Amino acid sequence: MKTFIIAVGDELLSGRTLDYNSYWISKRLTGLGFEVSGISVVPDSLKEIEEIVLRYLEKEAQLIVITGGLGPTPGDITLEALSKALRRRMSVEPRALEMVKDKYRQLFEAGHVSNPDITEDRKKMAILPADSVPIFNAVGVAPGVFLTQGSTRILVLPGVPSEMMYILEMAIPLISEKIGGVIRIAELVVDVGDESALAPIFREVMQKFPQVSVKSYPAGFGDQVRMRIIASTKTNSVKDGDYILSKALELVKSLIKNSI
Ligand code: AMP
Ligand code: MG
Repeated sequence: MKTFIIAVGDELLSGRTLDYNSYWISKRLTGLGFEVSGISVVPDSLKEIEEIVLRYLEKEAQLIVITGGLGPTPGDITLEALSKALRRRMSVEPRALEMVKDKYRQLFEAGHVSNPDITEDRKKMAILPADSVPIFNAVGVAPGVFLTQGSTRILVLPGVPSEMMYILEMAIPLISEKIGGVIRIAELVVDVGDESALAPIFREVMQKFPQVSVKSYPAGFGDQVRMRIIASTKTNSVKDGDYILSKALELVKSLIKNSI
């Protein structure tokens, strides 16, 4: 499933906060068989968020995961930008409002906030683009949001990493329906300094194993340079994937031995 990730937040661009969420989301989704085709980091800007959503829709994304900018402050504008991109109205979503109310009641009872009332700022977290499905946030307040636009699924997650992780797990059944196959990766480090010498070898391996992609990544410097060779494939089972990768890397090894 062709997937794009958008991390929203000025602090991610200034270097104040490391964009941990994209890393986590891409690792988790790749492990489940999604193909992450792009990751963008954008500021808390209506225009920038709207533009990147439209670009990924144009690229026929099957899944777009957005993280950050769901909070109660005026700087949190991810959903407003999304509703503009999708040309949908925003309104208070009753299930989301119940979730937010419940959370503030609990926070008040635990003594974390001074009153349980739903102020306009708190209510903001329940104002969603039309036809959104709110996803309960057990770790924080702002619900996650799931919606579909044509054949694209869109999942919006809070920026706080623990909340992002929790809602991502909760949303996996929603986003993973009909995903075909799993992606497997295997690697090999070889003492080859000249990357160009690997080109004919990779061509031969990919001809014999068309379902496998083989790439090289130089590691180290000068005389110490070595190559990390990474093979990846998408198959129906972990076992099949690992088997074919081991065969492909065996062939890489023997071709290197014979020709370099
Ligand atoms: P937000 O949901 O944008 O209000 O973000 C809430 C908190 O999560 C802030 O402290 C952010 O710095 C942090 N945060 C937001 N996005 C990310 C991200 N991509 N990676 C790590 N932390 C983040
Ligand atoms: Mg933010």
